[in-house]
This record gives sequence, structure tokens and C-alpha cells, in this order.
Amino acid sequence: MEMRKAAETVLSSLPRPIGTWALFLDVDGTLLDIAPTPDGVGVPTELRQTLSALHHGLNGAIALVSGRSLDQLDRLFAPNSLTAAGQHGAEMRLANGSQVRTEISRSLLDQLRGQLGNFTARIPGVIIEDKGLSIAFHYRLAPRRSAAIHRQLIDALGRQRAEFRILRGNMVYEIVPKLADKGTAIESFMKMDPFIGRTPIFIGDDVTDEDGFASVRKLQGYAVRVQSEPVQLGSKIVSAASVVRGWLATLPDAIAREQGNFTN
Ligand SMILES: [Mg+2]
Repeated sequence: MEMRKAAETVLSSLPRPIGTWALFLDVDGTLLDIAPTPDGVGVPTELRQTLSALHHGLNGAIALVSGRSLDQLDRLFAPNSLTAAGQHGAEMRLANGSQVRTEISRSLLDQLRGQLGNFTARIPGVIIEDKGLSIAFHYRLAPRRSAAIHRQLIDALGRQRAEFRILRGNMVYEIVPKLADKGTAIESFMKMDPFIGRTPIFIGDDVTDEDGFASVRKLQGYAVRVQSEPVQLGSKIVSAASVVRGWLATLPDAIAREQGNFTN
């Protein structure tokens, strides 16, 4: 019960008016319940509807900020192509629909992928996800091999640290472009319409969201970190993501009331 209360309390204490927010949302563990594999997550229909309503209510000042690629996000949230930062900010789709991608050395990433693929192929349960500008090594199904995988990544990266770095997330290690992080992505959005001049709010659940939290605080905004792991409540399992979804669903009407055009 503690976790559910904590998330609800923090979320409902965010300053109003809501209509002036720029809302940044991590995806896995924040909007969506964590699944055993990256492809195992589901997007509830109501969440799609909520995000569309919020896009309208916030004049487009809402973006996903995720470790997933834009392609993956589009598949998950279809038919919507949401404004988003993918691969921890290495690629962005701006509010006007145009895309920005970090330049990387794909040949170097291929080399790392080959080398590390050979290693992780010997570890049952490790899932490699090549996202184009970054590579994720999920070990949720092989949690005891965490340290061994980490050591191997450090070795493989070796002297290539000018271009890539290792990012540690929830049951995942990733090789990401050195200059990409969620904070830089949020700061880029905040310099552009329709985000500029608004109060940034970032909701995330993971250590990889820390850069984003720091950025919104720097911009006089608010950071909310929810817990990733579901907890058992009696016969029910609840996740922080379900609390976030429930809270988000209340926002479109609240914005409409603020604007005094609540017709009923
Ligand atoms: Mg997350």
C-alpha cells in the first residue's frame, strides 16, 4: 500500500495550473507495466486515449522520453506517432513531426554487437536488442549474470569510450551514444514550441531517468520518480505505472475545468 500511496501523493501535489505544464513521460515502468521481455508489454486502450486528450489539452506539450527506439514506440502506441525522444535521446521526433538523430559510427556498433553477441549467446535468458543507435542487453531472465555481462561490456568498449558509454538501467545494460541522455533531450524540447515557457514535469522510474530529473529541476520544473517493481496487495498485483495511468486519465478534464470551458 505504501508505494501506491506514495506515488499518488507526489503526483497530486504537483503545482497547478496543469494547462501550463510540459509533460515528459518515461514509458517502461512509468506508463507501462514491466514485462519479463521487452516485447511482452501491453498498451491499454485507455492510455492511448488519455495521451491523445492530453496532447490536445496541453497544446502538444507532451512527449515520451524512453530508452526504446522511435520505431518501437510507434509500434506500441499505433496509430499515434507521438512526440518523443527515443534511445535515451539519441533520436527525437519533434512536435512538428521532423526527426533528429545523433550521428554515430555504425561500424563500431556492429563490431561491439558481434563481439558481445558471441558472449551473451552463451548465457540463456539474455536478450539483445539492437535499436540502431544503441544496443540493449536485457538480463531480467538471467539476473545472476549481471556482473559478468557488465564486465564484458566494459572490456568490449575498451578504448571506444569517446563515442559510446554504458548505461545501466532496470535489469538492462545499454551501449548508448556518449552525448545522448534523457536530460539533454528534455532540454532540447524545452527550447522549442510548444514546450517553451511551460513548466516541465518529468515522470520516470529508473536510474536512467536521473539525467531527466536533473534537467527539469534546473528548468524550475518537477521530477517524479515512481517505483518500477509491482507489489502484491492481497490477491492483487499493482504497479506504479497503473497509478500513473489512473492519475493521467484525470488530467484532461482538470485542464478543461481550469480553462473554464467545462460544458456539461
Ligand atoms: Mg522506465
